[in-house]
Amino acid sequence: MKVTAIPDGKNHNKINIIVLMLILSITYALFSRSDISLHVQPPSIELILIFSVTYLFGTFFLSPDLDIESSPYNRWGVFKFLWWPYKVIFKHRGLSHHPIFGPLTILFNFALIFVPILVVLGFNRTLFSLDVSVVAATGFVLSIEMHILADVMASNLT
Ligand SMILES: [Zn+2]
Repeated sequence: MKVTAIPDGKNHNKINIIVLMLILSITYALFSRSDISLHVQPPSIELILIFSVTYLFGTFFLSPDLDIESSPYNRWGVFKFLWWPYKVIFKHRGLSHHPIFGPLTILFNFALIFVPILVVLGFNRTLFSLDVSVVAATGFVLSIEMHILADVMASNLT
């Protein structure tokens, strides 16, 4: 029987969602137990939502597998041409799957798409507080890192 070593898109989604549920449960447990005192304010529902949404968006739309014709790539639908340069420039599982350059290059390309949209819609920087920006960036980056980690672990198992 042939075992595929590298997680496919569906497995990446499952792994990322399980990790998100673990992060949320652990965060909840840490802040709700009276025998643990963390000396920090629990995160607001707003920040938890922003983290979850950016993490899930990252999982489904900002995957390192945008470097090939993959389901995250095709999810962009008519807008997938925006990722075409990325797919052409980066060879599969190359820089896009590097723990530092992967998130940087993906988020750079995403910013090239997202920032003009925000400008057109009339948003400006002051609408995004530091908290919101840091939490959103963490959600995006963590989803990408989980993908890279899953690929590395799967290829080390074989
Ligand atoms: Zn991958």
